Order: sequence, then C-alpha cells, then structure tokens
Amino acid sequence: MVSEKANQIGESPTLKVTSKAKAMKAEGIDVIDLSVGEPDFATPDNIKNAGIQAIKDDFTKYTQADGIPQLKDAIIKRLKEDMGLSYSRKEVIVSTGAKSSLYHAIQALINEGDEVIVPAPYWVTYPHAISLAKGKTVIVPTREEDGFLLTPEQLKAAITPATKALILNNPSNPTCAAYQKHELRALADIILEENIYVIADEIYEKLVYDDFRFFSFASLGEEVKKKTVVINGVSKAYSMTGWRIGYTAGPADIINGMAKIQSHTTSNPCSVSQKASLEAFTGPQHEISKMQAEFQRRRNYVMMRLQSIPDVSCFKPQGAFYLFPNFSAYYKKEFNQTQIRNSYGLAYYLLNEARVAVVPGDAFGADDYLRLSYATSMQNLEKSMDRIIEALTHLKTARKIKKITLSNTITHTKGSVPVEASVSIQMRDALVGEMESHLTFQNYFEWNANINGVIVQLRTNVSHLYDFWLENWYPAELEANLEPHGIIYAVDNIPGREPRVFYNTETKTGIVVNADHYGPLRSLALGMITDISERLFNSNAVRGMSLDFNGQGLVLIGPKGTKKTELFFSLLKDPQAKLHSNDCVFVRFSAGTPLADSIDRKLFIPTNTVDAYPGLAPLFDHSKCENVITRKEDCKNEKCLQLDDCRLDKGSPFCYIASKKSMALLDPYWIEGPAKHIKRTALKWIFILKNDKFSPPSVEADPEDILRFMEAGETMGTQKTPGENAPFFNPHLLVTTPERIDFQRNFYRHLFESTRCFIFNSGVAGYEEIKKIILNQET
Ligand code: PMP
Repeated sequence: MVSEKANQIGESPTLKVTSKAKAMKAEGIDVIDLSVGEPDFATPDNIKNAGIQAIKDDFTKYTQADGIPQLKDAIIKRLKEDMGLSYSRKEVIVSTGAKSSLYHAIQALINEGDEVIVPAPYWVTYPHAISLAKGKTVIVPTREEDGFLLTPEQLKAAITPATKALILNNPSNPTCAAYQKHELRALADIILEENIYVIADEIYEKLVYDDFRFFSFASLGEEVKKKTVVINGVSKAYSMTGWRIGYTAGPADIINGMAKIQSHTTSNPCSVSQKASLEAFTGPQHEISKMQAEFQRRRNYVMMRLQSIPDVSCFKPQGAFYLFPNFSAYYKKEFNQTQIRNSYGLAYYLLNEARVAVVPGDAFGADDYLRLSYATSMQNLEKSMDRIIEALTHLKTARKIKKITLSNTITHTKGSVPVEASVSIQMRDALVGEMESHLTFQNYFEWNANINGVIVQLRTNVSHLYDFWLENWYPAELEANLEPHGIIYAVDNIPGREPRVFYNTETKTGIVVNADHYGPLRSLALGMITDISERLFNSNAVRGMSLDFNGQGLVLIGPKGTKKTELFFSLLKDPQAKLHSNDCVFVRFSAGTPLADSIDRKLFIPTNTVDAYPGLAPLFDHSKCENVITRKEDCKNEKCLQLDDCRLDKGSPFCYIASKKSMALLDPYWIEGPAKHIKRTALKWIFILKNDKFSPPSVEADPEDILRFMEAGETMGTQKTPGENAPFFNPHLLVTTPERIDFQRNFYRHLFESTRCFIFNSGVAGYEEIKKIILNQET
C-alpha cells in the first residue's frame, strides 16, 4: 500500500496531457502539442560542447553536493551583472533543476502547519511541494482585470500569524503575467512589515517581451534581499530542460539548510550539466535574444488568432511562452449531446476533435482558462489555431444547461471495519464512558430511528453519519421520554484508536469507533435489529434483494460475484415488477404466509449500480452521496483505466463507477414513481445464487439441502474478517452463538417450506430464466 501522501499527490496534469498527445502521435494521429513547458530551440552548440568536453575530461564523478565553486561564481557574477545583486558562495546552491531547488527551499523553510501564500493561477507543483513539507497552501486568486497580478491588498488580507512565506512566480506560469518594479515594491513593503519570506521563482526571467524590464524581487534593497529566496536555472533561458540544473540564491542559513537536505536527496547535481551550465552563464548570450524575438512574434500571432474567437478573452502577457485565454463561454456548449462543462471537458474535446493538446486551466487553479504553449513552430501554431477555431464552431449551445452540484461527503475511513460482536458488560461500560467523554455539547447529534418497529438511538459526533442515519430510516415518534430498544454510539476522532465496531447483546449497545463512513454504522444497526426483533417480534432479517410480481415476492440471496444486482435490476425492468428492497428485508409469518417488510426509507446503494441500471445516474445527482470519486487520481476502476475513456477526463465533475466504495442514499420512489414500489410482499420464491460454469441453470431444491448451503455461507460483506464465512449469507448478523444459529436454522427451514426455493446458477442463466419460473407459475 502506498502512503497517504503518495496517494494524495496528483500526477502532473501537464505531463499527463503531453504523454497522451505523444501516445496519440505514436498511433499515427497527427496531434499538435501546445501543452509543452519547454522551449523548442536546440541547446546552443557552445553549451553542448562544454558538456561533451566535460565527459572527455572525465568530469563524471561526484562533485561538491551544493555545486562546483566555478559554477557558483558564474551564477554570482550573473546575478551581479544582470540584477546588481551581491551574493557569496555560502548564499548560493546549485540543484538538479529549478524544481528541485524549489522543493529543497520549501523543505528548508517550512515547518508543519506553516502557511504559504500562493497566488492563483499557480504553477501546479507549488501546493504539492508545500504539502510534502506539511505546510498549508493558502491560495489567493488573482483577477484577469488586474493582469493576474497579486495586489498588495490581497497579500495583506491573506497574511495570518501562521504565514511563513509567499511564493511569487514572476513571470508566471501559466498566466505569464510579470510584475513591474513599483508593483514588486508595494508587495515588498508588506513582506517587510509582516516579516515573512518570499520564494521568488524567477525561472522565466530572461523571457520577457515588449521592452519589459525584469527586476528580481531580491533587488529591492538589502532588507528585502534578506527575506528573499530566489529560484532560477538554465532550463528555459538556455533551452536546457533535460540537463536539469537550477539554482537558489538566498540567506546563508536557508541555503545551508537546503545543502544538508540536498546531500541526502540527490547529492550533487549532474557534473556534466554543471560544466555545460558554466558555459551557459559565461559564454555568449545572444541566443537568448534570438529566442526572445521569435517567442514575441509567436505570442503576437496566437494572441491575434485568439482575439478573433467569439466570446474568448485573452490577457496579453509580458513573459514566458504561454497564453492563458478565458474559454469559459464554451463550457455551456455541447457536442454529441455531451456538455463541455469545464476546462477538462474543453481540453478533452480539443484533443479529440481538433487534435490539439492544451492544458486545462483547472490544473493551475483557474477553471475558466486553458493554457496554450507557443513553444512550437509557427507552422504548427497556424495549423493548431485553424483547427481549434474550426472545432469550436461545431459546438452547439447545450439544450439543458444544468450544473450538478453533488451532495458528496468524502470520509476519512472507507471499506471494512473489524467487528467485535460479543463484548462483556464491563467492557461495554468502559467503552460507553470513553465515548461519552468525547461527545461534547457542541458536537453532539442524536436521533431515534424506527427500523422494523425497533427504536434505535444514534449518538454521534459525526454530522455526516447523523445526516445519513436521518435519511436512511423512518423516524421514531417524537416523544420526549421514548425508551429506545438499543443505542449506538458512533464517535470519531478518538486519539490512538483503530476503527472498530463493538456490540453488547445484553444491553443492546452498539459502538462504532473512529469510522466516519456510513457502511459500518448501518450494518451494525441491521445486526442489532435482527438481534432485537427476533425476540420481540419473532421476525428475522433476510439479506437479499427483493421484488414483487403481482403481489407475490421473490428474494435473490447470494454472495458477491453472483450477479445479484444485475439480475435484480434486469427483473425490475419488467412492467409487472415492483421494487421491494435492495439489501435486507424482515420476514415474519402471518397465518403461515411469510410476509417481508422493506425497512429503508432511502436505499443505501453503491453508485456503480449505474452499470446495471443507467437510469439511476440522474437520480444519484440529487441524492446524498458518500465517497463519489471527483479526481481521476482516485479512480479505482481498473476496467475504465484500461479503456482510456474516462468521464472525469471529459469534464465530468464526478464519476459513479470509479470506486466500489461510492455510495448514495436513494429515494426508491424516484425509480419510476411510487407505483413501482411496494413496502410489503408475501414471499413466494427464494433464489439462492451461485455462479459457476457447470451446474444446471436452476434447480428447485429440498429445504434441508438449501439450509446446509446457506448455513455454510461465504465471505461476502465487508464486516467479517476475510476468510470467515457469513452464515446465511448475512454479514450483518452479529450474534452467532449456537442458540442463535439454531434460531436462524429454524426460521429458514420454516421459510423454505413456505416458499419455492431454487438454487440458481447465474454463471449459465440470466434473468429470463427467473422470469420464466415466476410468470409461468402454477398457482
Ligand atoms: N518554476 C516554474 C514556474 C516552471 O514553469 C518550471 C518548469 N516548468 C520550473 C520552475 C522548473 O524548472 P526546471 O526544469 O529547471 O526544474
């Protein structure tokens, strides 16, 4: 299992688009890649030759971890000549690319909980680098009308006592906005006043246009310099992205901290690249002006084309080699009945329809925009702009513009939670004491539910669990002194405790510790109701999916992998079928007839059920959901990932089939209205499912045979330890003492004798076979 942090880090979206474009090219598709983040010019010959010479001179061993002194001196000289800045060797460190400089600077500067201000749109790496240092990113959105520049007022408002630094990317990737000296000055005044640091990422410093004069943040005076960590490198200015050399200039203590960290991460940056970079800084500089002139020509051309597109605005940037146009007017459009919706949707559309790869603005924290790089030939730019403009004309205004905002809670726990179902009274009392000590007035939620006539009181500090509990069950009567039959404590955030479920049968007390997803709570409640109602009402839970056909009921019972859901929803499509329950029913005998009651006010249902019944998707859109996947990085659906046809890539804000653990609470009446739904049915048929290739499709079996099969059960739910069998295919069953198993056995014997029971093999037969049995019924 990878670590939490590795799980949370999203793959670089730029690299993702670039590799997708490369894959399409490999398939022979003529894609133009405007996602690239590097100059398309060759590294100048003098620099390459310096690298070759280093190899010939055998300069191929470890060097000083923080960079060779000659290179440091060359950097110091450049900073002096270009910016008037004075640094000593102790104030400069060479790293493996500016990205590495930035990571090390953040690691050296940021403590756990420190806030770092990042103006948006931002370069994608910043928040990740900050979170790996356990810092907190404070995003401050800048406005297009302010030229995407952070204003002094915005900076001031974002500073708190926890603020440690501001990351100022100048010129910026992706907006390419660049700060004039007086604009930097105004920010610097606040930096000094508030005594915070600036990490000044100036990697695009040399790529500025229209006579723009670049000033390093550190050049605003000695005091400002003491608070500034300058990040720069050779990647962009010298077309040396692959050589991986970056540098940092800043206060000696920070540089020293970075050097220590670097000595354990990369050791020295590549020796050969250091020699080549030495030549870059000390050799002729005219290639930079050539590159500048060419980039300016391309910028002007692409700007001109973008300005001709209706409803697109594009800020004219002074630096770098990207444009960041606002395409949000196109998100309301559709193609082949699919609405574009957001920057991911438009980027996906342009990749497939225009065969032009661009980066969605959302990746930089600005969903209204797309990032287009002009680091490609003029010919490519002309062709790509023609294609984009043409593809946009094929978009139609979406007929129904409905923005779906899903009610979706992401919980910190997911999946199975171990259950201890037979805790002693003493342990129960100790646990209740512990739970109560964590339930304070301010965070206490309580609600009595009526589940199959049993009143269960939930006491919790998790608002999400309270919310789902309320939706899932019918309420008990609102009597002030109503005595519940059972009580459940669901308490989260207890330090030092693993997620666990406990149950004490004498006192009917259930306890859910440190699990904030709904499954364990619901399962515990069902187990408790079974335990209680078997004594109170002589009724028992049957775990299965049930339907009614003309007043007679059928239940499908079976473990995972027996196509229960698929069969259930296929049968439901029959006009005579009514939905009864999707999980668990309670059965009691009335004059010998087994009557089954559905107990859920709303159905707790995995959202990937849309695979079996696509009509559920628009219903889930309005339901309360839990753990529906909203980011491609979190997708767990292997099949989808292989198909490379992802709705999240196409701009969908969420996906119902990306994880088996995404759940919704669905109002059953929404499935084709109240007439399609029934609360009580007289059970007539029981189908026990299995899935193999050799057994007959369906066998009407002897109750005793079925009993044996049922009692053995199989691991199916999430509540039991893997490998342990769930008797009667019911993972909600809590108490499995011999006496209780005996009760279950007698109940099922009675049930099987009162109904027609089939062992049904879903490996060879489908729902038609079941329909044949129930519709050709001999009465
Ligand atoms: N900062 C910014 C803003 C960048 O755009 C990039 C490169 N995309 C870097 C830093 C990293 O540069 P390097 O290739 O030297 O690691």
